[in-house]
Amino acid sequence: MMQPAVPKPFSYETFPTSGLVAYFSMEIAIHPAMPTYAGGLGMLAGDTLRSAADLGVPLVAFTLAHRKGYFQQHLNGSGEQSEDIQPWNPADFCAEESARITVSVEDRVVTVRAWRYELQGRYGHVVPIYLLDTDLDGNSGWDRGLTDHLYGGDTNYRLQQEIVLGMGGARMANALGLNVNVHHMNEGHAALLTLALLESQMSGGPLAAATEADIAQVRRKCVFTTHTPVPAGHDRFSTEQTIRILGGERTARLERLGCFRDGLLNMTLLALRFSRYANGVALQHGKVSRTMFPEFPIDSITNGVHAPTWVSEPVQQMLDAHIPAWRRDNLYLRNAIDLPEQDVLKAHARAKEDLLAEVATRTGLVLNPRVLTLGFARRAATYKRASLLFTDPERLLKIATDAGGLQILYAGKAHPQDAPGKALIHTVIEAAGKLSNDKLRIVYLEDYNWDLGALLTAGVDVWVNTPRRPYEASGTSGMKAALNGVPSLSILDGWWIEGCIENVTGWAIEDGANDAEEAGSLYHKLETAIVPLYLQPAEKWARVMRTTLAFNGSYFNTNRMVKQYTRNAYYPVKLIEPAKVEEAAFAD
Ligand SMILES: *Cc1c(COP(=O)(O)O)cnc(C)c1O
Repeated sequence: MMQPAVPKPFSYETFPTSGLVAYFSMEIAIHPAMPTYAGGLGMLAGDTLRSAADLGVPLVAFTLAHRKGYFQQHLNGSGEQSEDIQPWNPADFCAEESARITVSVEDRVVTVRAWRYELQGRYGHVVPIYLLDTDLDGNSGWDRGLTDHLYGGDTNYRLQQEIVLGMGGARMANALGLNVNVHHMNEGHAALLTLALLESQMSGGPLAAATEADIAQVRRKCVFTTHTPVPAGHDRFSTEQTIRILGGERTARLERLGCFRDGLLNMTLLALRFSRYANGVALQHGKVSRTMFPEFPIDSITNGVHAPTWVSEPVQQMLDAHIPAWRRDNLYLRNAIDLPEQDVLKAHARAKEDLLAEVATRTGLVLNPRVLTLGFARRAATYKRASLLFTDPERLLKIATDAGGLQILYAGKAHPQDAPGKALIHTVIEAAGKLSNDKLRIVYLEDYNWDLGALLTAGVDVWVNTPRRPYEASGTSGMKAALNGVPSLSILDGWWIEGCIENVTGWAIEDGANDAEEAGSLYHKLETAIVPLYLQPAEKWARVMRTTLAFNGSYFNTNRMVKQYTRNAYYPVKLIEPAKVEEAAFAD
């Protein structure tokens, strides 16, 4: 482990103060019926754009069409996952732009078009989202499929997609006549846009002739958000691949610019090298990122979720009655501290009924609305430790008996090539079969997606999260729960380090030396805090729901987050004296 880096000041060169922000993301959850996202990164991108539209931020976005969608998950009786493609037709949701641009991939020229989706905000402001598409006559059969599969294929396919997203996106913005002054790379997937900007800065001249001044010109226009504290999570490509797919001259340039690490082109390094501002997605994640890339200043802007998207209908009605301005300005949710307990309980009971009705429809299982219900749903990556709850089955059964019953709802997809993730789903489903009895009901729901995520985060009583530290960059599903007044029981990692106030917004699973110790803390919190509180008169529980909504709902939303991006990353000098923003946001 390297020494933690002291936060470095940002070099506030002359910033642009006008023009559009172009937001680039490999996945964006745009609409529940469009399968253009896989999980947290895409949801965050979608929520960011929904808040930008509500707030009137001058922003456009670029992504790929993903015509075959992310996969639909099937689980058989023994818990084995299989996958189906989810083809969709962009023409059903978007308008085709007439502009065409080209990118070079290996030795081929690939033509790219764009579909425009108009994301309309609450007060009418539109954020256009351009979905890039290579499925055009004239492109080879292989190239027509480049924008088909989100996170499908091998690293060759991925690098080719990243050329379309980054270089294609930057060129498409030009072809559409957009006056873009800030390029925001949401994760490293779009980092090649910096190369397109450098080439345009060189007006077709050789890249080898680019000077530090040329690079500074590109850096002025770029900001970058990193999302992964796991080194393997950063996109990397071999020199051989890069020379073959991107070309020798570009590869040589990137090597000289220090974008290679351990002999691999590292997309995070590339993005950092060309960005005037970079950030991680929670305070802790910024700190971890500075350790991974000590040569760069990396700030933190903690994630959020789009409140009106994730607050359930019954809770929305309650908030409308007591805090009518909550959608316009999420800070007013602070006043949830005064909500009548009975209203909170009634709204949550309805959200729980809606969830249990969906469980019954999908599985035929009728769960009990009066029984304490835990929710755990996320990508089935091994670091999330979905099976931690089953470490000591006897103890879990005892907790269920003492609580007068316990229901646990699971959901989550494993990436098709992630064998350990698939094995984890199998383990959970097997344990569910073995342990379920009349006191303990464990259900694994198929095909976790937007709609199911909304029902789960609003309808359970406690949201559980058990990542292995420090691998959770932020996490957002617990924020969705908080906006519904649902407290979390979670490892102190990612956003929860900032969000946990013990017995007020939820409960911390204490750090342990190993999985067994952390499972012990998880059980201990259930035994000594959560179950006893649940067995008290319901008003006591309602008070925790209220403080959860007030403290965490008012902060962990994209309304606050987009304002931070606007002020700290996109256009800061217009608002603040440069000298005043040079100190780091916080100390390590
Ligand atoms: C919110 C959400 C996620 C991200 O949740 P994490 O807490 O970051 O794991 C993933 N998938 C879906 C469908 C979601 O709604």
